[in-house]
Amino acid sequence: MTETSIVLTGAGIGQGIALGPVLRMSDPLPEPEATPSTRTPDEEKARVAEAVQVVAADLRERAGKVTGTAAEVLEAQSMMAEDSSLAADVASRIDSGTTAERAVFEGFGVFRDMLIGLGGYMGDRATDLDDVAQRVIAALEGRPAPGVPESDRPFILVATDLAPADTALLDLTKVLGLVTREGGPTSHTAILAREKAIVAIVGVAGADDLAEGTEVILDAGAGTVTAAPTTAQSDEARRRIAERESALSGGLEPGALADGTPVPLLANLGSAEGAEKALAAGAEGVGLFRTEFLFLDARMAPTVEQQREQYVKLLQAFPGKKVVVRVLDAGADKPLEFLNDAHEDNPALGLRGIRSLRANEDILREQLTALAEADAATEADLWVMAPMVATVEETRYFVRLATEFGLKTVGVMVEVPSAALLADRVLREAAFASIGTNDLTQYTLAADRLLGSVAGFQDPWHPAVLRLIGEVGSAGAAYGKPVGICGEAAADPLLAVVLVGLGATTLSMSPAALADVRLSLTRYTLDQARTLAEVALAADGAAEAREAVRTAAAGFHP
Ligand code: PEP
Ligand code: MG
Repeated sequence: MTETSIVLTGAGIGQGIALGPVLRMSDPLPEPEATPSTRTPDEEKARVAEAVQVVAADLRERAGKVTGTAAEVLEAQSMMAEDSSLAADVASRIDSGTTAERAVFEGFGVFRDMLIGLGGYMGDRATDLDDVAQRVIAALEGRPAPGVPESDRPFILVATDLAPADTALLDLTKVLGLVTREGGPTSHTAILAREKAIVAIVGVAGADDLAEGTEVILDAGAGTVTAAPTTAQSDEARRRIAERESALSGGLEPGALADGTPVPLLANLGSAEGAEKALAAGAEGVGLFRTEFLFLDARMAPTVEQQREQYVKLLQAFPGKKVVVRVLDAGADKPLEFLNDAHEDNPALGLRGIRSLRANEDILREQLTALAEADAATEADLWVMAPMVATVEETRYFVRLATEFGLKTVGVMVEVPSAALLADRVLREAAFASIGTNDLTQYTLAADRLLGSVAGFQDPWHPAVLRLIGEVGSAGAAYGKPVGICGEAAADPLLAVVLVGLGATTLSMSPAALADVRLSLTRYTLDQARTLAEVALAADGAAEAREAVRTAAAGFHP
């Protein structure tokens, strides 16, 4: 018998490999019929109110069983269920004679289309809303909510897209991996898969053709799903899974290259709650604490006391270790009403980051006060940095101000090309630089990082971005000042090596990425990392750079 396999492609999350049989998510509920209601509008409204209450309570209960992003997503979904504009829309449909089921289907559908129209991050929330609608309709019809199928043996879950409510509660002893037809790298499925270190390939166009029970191999690093693999392919996958498991369980050594050059591996955190997980994953400290994540829903600026409490909690978790805290980074993807609520046509180019803090210096001063007090009360090595710094003058401003409050190590983020191009002058003023590759890529390629239609430009492998990073690396080396990377680029195991070759002295990432990056660094010497950086810089574009570096890297490990 000749064996043939089919290879599908998508966006891989992480570097894992998985092998197992497909189990498909149950199909969505059928569309409720558009026949007129036989009940009175008040009866239908009462049914909706009860169903919404049941669904919201269930989502909150699930939120209570998990932590971190999963809990936040489920809380947000329970709020979507109870949203008053949605309720008003559904009620007006019922008033015109529609059944409760149909009114929920149509009303939620209008809002989902609006989210999709907004695209990017908001567009990715459409799945969350669809899931809430399905749950409310299921409750109205007295059916169980659609969800993850049960199985006694481990499986690869294949779905159109996973609802956060399902992803959050996945039984990780059973789910070997995930494949979704929809979703991009910023969808909740991707975010949660990254957080839980689940092998996942999202946005796989042919996922619907994967039949229940088919054996598949997922290779997240390559972004491939191999269906009905040959015996040789399955054997090779098993070998790679075993090799990776043994390499990743090889202890939590500090980050270092093959020749022993230390490259401290740090964690990106949005709250002190993530500290335990970060330490368990071997984080040597915190390279980016996003303070604005603590206050995204706040209408008023947080008080010094509120802030101090949060910062003390964080610093206490890292005694003797470096913790880099970023002052509030408001604007564009991270709106903070109390710092800038003016409408801007181009918020990514607006009054954001250090600009909005400067326009509200009292808030910045309060934050620096809270940080200095937390520093004095704890044993961590606190570093403080400003986001979105574009000029040498802004660098001077922030360093002078933070120093006034007694903060000892004051630096800036390099996320704007102007700061990278003048890194020699910026680093004369600042104690360190931390490169935010997410924004640096957005501004270098002039492509909104939230906009799906230009997502292809948001690739930090682009040699223009790498050349700017190299400028900062050279300036850091010239002044003997640390240059960290804290954008998503640091979480890409091969790119991480290139970044070190460009002069990065530390790498900071979401804790789930630490193990793969640690392993990757051990495979190259500093000379080899520099060679790979040269190879990347010589390419014409992001895809070419990635490919050329893969080939060159393979040459070091024949
Ligand atoms: C970045 O821009 O790369 C960064 C680390 O900051 P954020 O993603 O929070 O904007
Ligand atoms: Mg940024």
